[in-house]
Order: sequence, then C-alpha cells, then structure tokens
Amino acid sequence: MSLRQRTLNPSRKPLLAEDDGGPLLRWYDLAKRDLPWRKTTDPYAIWVSEIMLQQTQVATVIPYWEKWMARFPTVQDLAVADEQDVLSIWQGLGYYRRCRLLLAGAKWVGENGIPNDVDGWLSVPGVGRYTAGAIASIAQNVPAALVDGNVERVYSRLTGDDHSGKTLSENAWKWAEQNVFSDRPGDWNQALMELGATVCTPNNPSCESCPLQNQCVARQTWRVDQLPTKPPKAKVVKQTHTVWVPRNNEKWGLRQIAPGQWWEGMWEFPRVESAAGSEADALRELVGAGWPQAMGTIRHSVTIHRIRIDVYFLETEQRSTQLQWFATAELAALPMPAPQRKILKLVLRSLGL
Ligand code: SF4
Repeated sequence: MSLRQRTLNPSRKPLLAEDDGGPLLRWYDLAKRDLPWRKTTDPYAIWVSEIMLQQTQVATVIPYWEKWMARFPTVQDLAVADEQDVLSIWQGLGYYRRCRLLLAGAKWVGENGIPNDVDGWLSVPGVGRYTAGAIASIAQNVPAALVDGNVERVYSRLTGDDHSGKTLSENAWKWAEQNVFSDRPGDWNQALMELGATVCTPNNPSCESCPLQNQCVARQTWRVDQLPTKPPKAKVVKQTHTVWVPRNNEKWGLRQIAPGQWWEGMWEFPRVESAAGSEADALRELVGAGWPQAMGTIRHSVTIHRIRIDVYFLETEQRSTQLQWFATAELAALPMPAPQRKILKLVLRSLGL
C-alpha cells in the first residue's frame, strides 16, 4: 500500500466521541499555560494577542501585549491613537504591517462596532480567516474553526495526511471545521494549538504524553518524523545595503521610510541598496558634505532575504533639510526597525558613546 493510499480522508470521522470534549480537552484543562490573554474574554484584547502571536513566540509577545493593553486598553483608545505612538509600542516585535493593520482595524471597529461572528470579523482590515475564527471562538463562544501552523501539524500527523502547502492547509481547514467542539469552541481551538506548541512540536514530539496518541495515524505508522511533508524551500535572495549615519552638532539625521517599502512609516538612517553609481550619488545628495568612515557590517534576515548592511558614519558640515535631526536621547522613543537599532548601537559603540 502506498503512503498516499494510507493517507486518511480528512472527512472520515469526527475526532470527538465524548460529551466533555474527550481526551484533548481533559488534557488542556490540566496542562494549559497560564497566559495573560487567557484571563479575559474581551474580543479586542484577544484580537491584539492573536495579531502579535503571528510569527512571534509566546514568551516574546507577553511583555508587548501587557505594555500595549496598558497604553491602549480599549479598541476606542487604539482607534484614536497616533500611528507613531502605536509603532513605538510595537517596536522590536517586527512584521510592522501587522501593527498598521491593527490600527486600521481599530478605526474600522470605531466606526462600525465590534463584530460578533466570523463573517463580521472578516470585514475588519487585517483580520483573516485564522484570526476571525480565533476571536469569534475564544472571546464570543462562536463554534468557528481555526488553523494555524500548530493545528496543521497536529492534523497532518493525527490523520496521516502527507500533502504539503495549499492542499494540506485546505484539508486541515475542512477537518478543523468538522471537529470543532461546539460546547467549548474557544478552548477546543486553543487546546489544538497548545498541543502543537507544547507536545506535538515540529521536532521530537512527546508522543508518549500526548492525549491523542491512540488516534494518531503518524504514530501508528511510524511516520511522526516524516509529517507534515515539507514544502520545497524558497530560494534565498542576497542583498547588500549601504547605510550612512550622519551627525551634525550632536544630532543624528534620519528619514521616515516611504510607503510601500519594508518598515514603512518607521525611521532609518539614509540607506541605499547599492554603493555604486547613481545610488551613491543619491546618498551623497541626501546626506550632504562629509567624509564617511567605515564602522562595520551587520547582517539581517527578512523572510527569504539575507541582507548585508555596510555602515558608515559621517560628521556633516550642514544639516540636510531632507532629513530630520534628533538628539541621542530622542532616538529611544523613535520607531526604528531592528536592523536600524543594530546600526545605531554599532556606531555609538565605535565612537565610544
Ligand atoms: S501522538 Fe505524537 S505525532 Fe501524534 S498527535 Fe500526538 S504528539 Fe503528535
């Protein structure tokens, strides 16, 4: 029998046969982690946590979520907030588009009211299928399904589905929709995600302590380490950027990042994607007269891009009007992407400041 033939049809049977939610919910009730957003049913607070948790680990998110909720405790507070304030609280979490969409979503809710079902949440800017399912089920007890990377992995191993990519994702959604436990949908969804995050982990899952081990096809067919099937790797793109860090009379020159670029709306030292030809001339024109001194190189990764950044410092003769100038103390509150913070640290250290 081929592996594909052994793969189970995702619609074959519901995961639950018991009224109390079965072994998964019994396990979750005992084993769930104590996370701050699990102490509230405020849809806004859960929405913020779900957006922050996308591509970011729980331990990293906790202090950001607490700071955010202290600064913007209600969706109305966020709806009227200034984008620069919002970005400065988000600073360091990365993937800043999430933050801007959260702000846009809050403004939408400010005008239209808080949704109370999945379709309503899907109308909010920045809220996709996963987030809509998470908020509706966790905060509003709507029997909505969700699939994130953890649920997809649990699904693949539990049912033995050896597809990858889009097909795996679609199968996982169908399965999740068929299996959501309507008495406690929020806990059910969180239990699946918790299982994926703490037991059915990508490497070395703890099958011997898994509440679903008796139903798990991957375990029964010795394929735990083969599932889910890995999609082909995306090709890495290498780039080299040049950054000039200008200073004039104790103030640093930065510019706001233009719309449509990575980290739009945040602040950076003048940067070009090459040090040659017209790009170098543009940098010189932007920064003004001065003699650049090499400070070193930093490396940064964004999705498939591996970026090498060559950093130069220059004491300028005049303050370019194309830049805005800030004292060192002011830079702490300025929303700056992580590589720009690294650049600042490198220059301050090299100058002995
Ligand atoms: S038995 Fe192992 S592979 Fe199967 S769901 Fe549990 S942890 Fe994952």
